[in-house]
Amino acid sequence: MSENCIFCKIARGEIPSRKVYEDENVYAFHDINPVAPVHFMLIPKQHLVSLVEADESHAALLGKMLLLAPKLAREQGLENGFRTVINSGKGGGQEVFHLHIHIIGGGIIPPMVKRG
Ligand code: AMP
Ligand code: ZN
Repeated sequence: MSENCIFCKIARGEIPSRKVYEDENVYAFHDINPVAPVHFMLIPKQHLVSLVEADESHAALLGKMLLLAPKLAREQGLENGFRTVINSGKGGGQEVFHLHIHIIGGGIIPPMVKRG
């Protein structure tokens, strides 16, 4: 837990969110500023800044999150697939410094990188 972390506060219910899923380890909620018809985030309840700060002790938690992502995506209507994005650190465009997996879909999802 980190006192001033907005996602810790969301996971603790201190800041309102539109919940998608919750269990003892993780919390999922809709992004406040969605980039597609379905856009939610899956976070660990424990404060972890990003993948850069993750170590072996987080392996089970990270594995659980990756395995949960397709289940939650399907529940949210993304039967045809979805995009996952994890921004890590300022160099990765991360803005909220509590690890989160963006799960995005439902519209036209362009290629990640434009070539040519
Ligand atoms: P990132 O750039 O990967 O750190 O993504 C941060 C995401 O958090 C952005 O997509 C924001 O729209 C989203 N966000 C920030 N504050 C909130 C909030 N209070 N509730 C839901 N989503 C939020
Ligand atoms: Zn946090």
